[in-house]
Amino acid sequence: MRKKIKAIIFDFDGTIADTLPYTFEKIIEIARKYKIKEENKIIEKLRSMTPNELLRSFNISWLKYPFIIWDIKKAQKLLFYHLDKIKVFSGIKKVLQLLNKKNIKVFIYSSNLKKNIDYFLEKNDLKKYFEKVYVGNNLLGKYKDLKNILKKERLKKNEVVYVADEIRDVLACKKVGIKMIGVGWGLAGEKNLKKYKVDFIIKKPLEIIKVV
Ligand SMILES: [Mg+2]
Repeated sequence: MRKKIKAIIFDFDGTIADTLPYTFEKIIEIARKYKIKEENKIIEKLRSMTPNELLRSFNISWLKYPFIIWDIKKAQKLLFYHLDKIKVFSGIKKVLQLLNKKNIKVFIYSSNLKKNIDYFLEKNDLKKYFEKVYVGNNLLGKYKDLKNILKKERLKKNEVVYVADEIRDVLACKKVGIKMIGVGWGLAGEKNLKKYKVDFIIKKPLEIIKVV
């Protein structure tokens, strides 16, 4: 990438914090509760489908959506009590140190709760590396939030890169027009991220340094 990257925005779940086992457990619980079609395939679907494809494949009544969203938000709140067991992906701390040294500003933007992220960063001694933590509560509107962050931080599209793990992240970045580094260790995985033509794919956090 051209050497004018001023800031890196990190996603939280599946990128910095390995919340995937917790997420899978909760998603399966919710799928059972709402009798979602082919509930045994839900994890594979989450990895490989866009949000729209996912919703279509579930084939459930629109009337149920508010309840499902409510349950997802409840699971996010309960995550707080599991944070002590959740690990930082190996190599993240090192890369944050290096980015700080290079004077590249580091942010978080996530749809998780601020309380969870703050606690997790504090507990793992990562807080000092981040300029600011942004959260959005719209599960599908990531691109709007990203746009707002650029505006607030006075950053141009080509000065920023988003580091994240999901297909919806790829779609959001394309919509905003910023580059994304897809992480192979997260939810979607390398194959699915490639399928949606993410700009860069990395297998280890340290590779971020090569890209920027
Ligand atoms: Mg994520």
